[in-house]
Amino acid sequence: MYLSMVVPCFNEEHGLQRLHDALVAALSGRVRDYEVILVDDGSTDRTLREARRLAALNPRFRYVSLSRNFGKEAAMLCGLRHARGGRVALLDADLQHPPRLLRRMLALLDSGYDQVVARRGRDGENRVRSALSKMYYWACRRLVDVRLQDGVGDFRVLSRRAVDAVLSLPEYHRFSKGLFAWIGFDTAYVSFRNVPRGGGGSRWTFGALVNYGIDGLTSFNSRPLRLSIYLGVLVALLAGGYVLFVVANTIVDGVHVPGYATLLAGVLGLGGVQLLFLGVLGEYLGKSYFEAKRRPHYLVKESSPEFHPQARALR
Ligand code: UDP
Ligand code: MG
Repeated sequence: MYLSMVVPCFNEEHGLQRLHDALVAALSGRVRDYEVILVDDGSTDRTLREARRLAALNPRFRYVSLSRNFGKEAAMLCGLRHARGGRVALLDADLQHPPRLLRRMLALLDSGYDQVVARRGRDGENRVRSALSKMYYWACRRLVDVRLQDGVGDFRVLSRRAVDAVLSLPEYHRFSKGLFAWIGFDTAYVSFRNVPRGGGGSRWTFGALVNYGIDGLTSFNSRPLRLSIYLGVLVALLAGGYVLFVVANTIVDGVHVPGYATLLAGVLGLGGVQLLFLGVLGEYLGKSYFEAKRRPHYLVKESSPEFHPQARALR
């Protein structure tokens, strides 16, 4: 069955040739029909030129170039939409997703699974970062309906059925990890050791990861909003009890003026909780605002001839 490989690329000019060689080495003789779709996500270096060159060199390689940097999620969506294979693989351009695993993953897919996911170990990673990741996944398990797994990234092989299912989800804010978990279907896992990045640094700053995490927590249900109701009820009950106590105390004991600490703690504590949940509320409101605009996820600037509309009509 035809295999489409989708590779989002942002400023990967130095990695593409290496990726090309690794993919060809991993697939030649094993997979007969395949295409590699390089999605240039508005790179500011010569990634597009490299993609054009590889596409001219190797007919299995083709590219789509976006009009600006829309982010990896948009680039992956673009690649999935262009993929025509009965099986579709998603992998990073920086060789952190080793192509040699593809063979095992494809074999599993062919044995009847709809998704085969590569799970990465965290060795060699910053300790603080992996501890924070563990905490995050713990919180996710409690707050999010779909099961997100630690170490599971976007490296996966999907059946046509699974790809169509993901493409049928129209939301603007895409959190792929969650979308892939949401569609379900039989999923198999393959483990691999963490590979340091081939060249350049990770595009993920700590702040970007925190934002990504918040997106994950608020993309799947409104449980964080529900949490604010629970907390509100709890605080209201406590406050009610305390008011009763104060009133009773005043009746029995007369008026006592001190209470500065209690007052301050109450005002500040409640203020903080209110701001937090105002933020949560705003997060959902903001998401609805973006969904309501119904903007496209990305715009295509240029693509290889295979993807031109007239070529599509001929196929
Ligand atoms: N990427 C992309 N658009 C972006 C950022 C990243 O297409 O805005 C691509 C990048 O070229 C790479 C993959 O997404 O192929 C993963 O990026 P990176 O290696 O920076 O992330 P990490 O491996 O640290 O998760
Ligand atoms: Mg990487």
